Amino acid sequence: MVRVRYAPSPTGSPHVGNIRTALFNYLLARKTGGQFVVRIEDTDRAREVHGALDDILESLRWLGMTWDEGPEVGGPFAPYFQSERTEIYREHAQMLLEAGRAYKCFCTSDVLDEMREYQRINKLPTGYDRRCRNLSAEQVQSNIVAGMPFVVRLAMPLEGTTVFEDAVRGKVEYENKLVDDQVLMKSDGWPTYHLANVVDDHLQEITHVIRGEEWIASTPKHMVLYEAFGWPPPVFAHAPVIKGPDGSKLSKRHGDTRCLDYREKGFLGSAVANFIALIGWSPKDDREVLSLHEMAQAFAIEGLQPSPGVFDIQKLQWMNGVHIRALSPDDLYHTVQEFDSRTQDEEYLVQPEREILRKAFAELPRGYVTQALVLEQERVKLLGEFAAACEFFFTEDFSFDDAAAAKWREKGHVPRLFDGLITRLQDRESLTHDECEALVGEVSDAVGLEKRAEAIHPIRLALTGRTKGPGLFDLMALLGPARMGERLARTKSRF
Ligand code: GLU
Repeated sequence: MVRVRYAPSPTGSPHVGNIRTALFNYLLARKTGGQFVVRIEDTDRAREVHGALDDILESLRWLGMTWDEGPEVGGPFAPYFQSERTEIYREHAQMLLEAGRAYKCFCTSDVLDEMREYQRINKLPTGYDRRCRNLSAEQVQSNIVAGMPFVVRLAMPLEGTTVFEDAVRGKVEYENKLVDDQVLMKSDGWPTYHLANVVDDHLQEITHVIRGEEWIASTPKHMVLYEAFGWPPPVFAHAPVIKGPDGSKLSKRHGDTRCLDYREKGFLGSAVANFIALIGWSPKDDREVLSLHEMAQAFAIEGLQPSPGVFDIQKLQWMNGVHIRALSPDDLYHTVQEFDSRTQDEEYLVQPEREILRKAFAELPRGYVTQALVLEQERVKLLGEFAAACEFFFTEDFSFDDAAAAKWREKGHVPRLFDGLITRLQDRESLTHDECEALVGEVSDAVGLEKRAEAIHPIRLALTGRTKGPGLFDLMALLGPARMGERLARTKSRF
C-alpha cells in the first residue's frame, strides 16, 4: 500500500514549487489506490505565520486535491500536527542518546559564531566542529547540573559514505565526514525538522517521499537516522527545481507567487494543476492538456525528470484558455460568478465592466447570461476578461469604436442597410442563428451590396461597439430583435 504525504510548514502561503510536490504525491496516491496524508510540520514556532494553514488547505482544495488523513479529516495516525507530537520526538531523541547515535551539545550561539568566523578566516569547511561529541559522561553531567542549556545533535558516522537510490536521479552518495552533526532537538525541547520528519514518516508508515530537490542534502542525515533507529527508509524522489524561462532561479517576477494568487488573477484550479504538474513531469506521451484524474491515471515516478523544469507564464495562460473552453455552460456560469464575487484582484475590481457583469448576474435571466459567456468562451484566457468581453450583452451603455464607424461613412450605404433591418425586425419576437443569417443576406441584396462583409462589419459594430467578437449571427440571435432594432437605430448616424 502506497502512503505518501505532503508535509508543509505553516510559514507562509504555499508557492507554486511547494504545492507541486503536494501534487506529485497526490497523483502517486491516486494512481496506486494508496493514501495521501497531509501533515503539518509546525515545530518552528518562531517562523509560523498566521493564516498559513488556511492557505495551505485552501490551495489543496482549489487544485482539487483531497487528502485521506490530516487536518480536518483526522485518521489512524493522528495527530497530524507536529506541535501535538512533541513527546514522541523527545522519546526518540532519548533513544538515540542512549544508543550513542546522538549527543548533547552545550555550545552557545556565541561559541558557534566564533567557530564560524574561525572557519571563514582559515577557509575551512563550515559546520559544527563536533567539539561536544567527545565530552565525558561526567562533563555532560556537570554541565547539566550547572543548568547549561543544550541541544541534541546527530552523531554522523565519521567515515565512509551514505548512499541512497533516488527514484529520480539514481544513486546519490555523500561522504559522511562532510555532513554536519545536525541538531535534532533544540534547547527549548522542540525537535527540528529532521528528527520530526523522519520519526513521523516512519510512524505514519509513509512509503514514498516525493519532495523538492532543495531537500536532497538533508537526505543523508535522514538515512543515518533511519539506520540508527533500525527502520527501513521510504523511497525518496527529489523533484527537479523550477526555473524561469531565461534559465535563472524562479522568482516572483517569473511567477513564483502564492498559489492562490493565480486564483485571484482568474486562473482555474484545473489549469494550474495541469500546468505545474508538467513542470518536471511528463506523462510520456504527447498530451499536454490533462485533468487531475487523467494525470493521476498517467502518473509514475519514472516520469519525473532530473533536469530543471521551466515555469512559462505564457504557457499557463494558454492552458487556462483551454481549460476555460472545456467548461460546460453551467460550470462556466458558476465559475465566472464565483470568481467575480470572490476575487480581490485590484486590476479586476477597478474595471467599470465589472459592475455591469455583477448586475447581469443579479438581474438578467440565467440562460441569457450563460449564453453570453458561452459566446465569449473561445477567446478568453482569464476569468476576469469575461466582464469586458461580454459588456455589450448586458448594457446599452457599452463603449463604441467611433473611428471604425467613421470609415464606413464615405460608402454611404450603412444607414439604408440599417433601416432595412430595422423594418424587418419590427414584428419579430425572436430569431435563430440561421434566420439572422438569412435576414442579413436579404437586406444586403435589397441595398445592392456586392460583398457580404459590407453588411457584417457595420452591423457588428452597431450591435457590439467593436470590430471583433463572437460570430455575428450567434450574437444577433442572443441579443434578439428588440435590442438589435434599438441599437441599429441609435448608432445609424455614426456611419
Ligand atoms: N516541512 C518541510 C517543508 O516545509 C517538508 C520537507 C519534506 O517533504 O521532507 O517543505
